[in-house]
Parts: sequence; C-alpha cells; structure tokens
Amino acid sequence: MFQNSTYLLLLTLLATPLAYADRCSLVVNSDDAMRFDTQRIVVSKDCETFTIHLKHTGRLAANIMGHNVVISKSSDALLISRQGRGFQNNGFIKPNDERVIAATDMIGGGEESSLSFAVSVLKADEKYAFFCSFPGHIGLMVGSLVVE
Ligand code: ZN
Repeated sequence: MFQNSTYLLLLTLLATPLAYADRCSLVVNSDDAMRFDTQRIVVSKDCETFTIHLKHTGRLAANIMGHNVVISKSSDALLISRQGRGFQNNGFIKPNDERVIAATDMIGGGEESSLSFAVSVLKADEKYAFFCSFPGHIGLMVGSLVVE
C-alpha cells in the first residue's frame, strides 16, 4: 500500500510539468512537398508563453526548400511575405518588420527551430496566421492561429 501511493505520487509529480508544457507548446512538421502538418493552431489564453517547434522532415536544403514559421495577423501575412523576398539572409523577412509577432529560423531538411511569444500580445477578437516566408511557399504553407 505504501509502495503504491509512493508510486502514484511520483507519477503525479512527473506527469504534471510535462502536461503543462505540452499545452503551451506544439510541434509543427514540414517537408519537401511544401506542407505543414497543421492547418490550425489553438493557443490557450492560460499560457504565459507559447512555443512552436518547427521540424523539417525532408531532405532538401534551406536555399531550395527552406521553411520557417512566421506569426502575424492574417491581414499582414501576404504583405510580409511579399516584402521579405529580398532578404534571404533574414529568413525572407524584412529586418525589424514590426508586423511579425514571432518567427523561427529558416531551416532545411533534417533541421529544427523554435519560436516563442508572449500570449498576452494576441487579442481574442483578432485573426492570426502562421506561414512560411520562403518565396512562393505561403500559397500552401499557411494556417490560422487563434487564442482561446
Ligand atoms: Zn517553406
């Protein structure tokens, strides 16, 4: 009996921080077919910060099939993408673009990168998007991000 409750207590102690971390972070996979495996990201307003881990499961290099995750208002996404085309060294994002809420590095096959942002910057009544800023990728690599 004593052993059982010790075991349960240990399980609880181990499980709690992991469950909390999972709720406020998400893995998004991308590939050589220019796809994210997620179309909609729900951010809990109970999270202080939210983290997105981007993985590139393909093989192509970042200068050919580069992917990142950029977060912005939906209404800003296309212009950020268009105006970032000349800035390959900055992940195809115009330097200091204030419309960008957060962005990962631009990565190639086998690589990963993360972003984090304070959930308090998101408004519940605003529409947000996540997308890849590599030229031409936003057509396929775009999804919605909401705070609930
Ligand atoms: Zn991409």
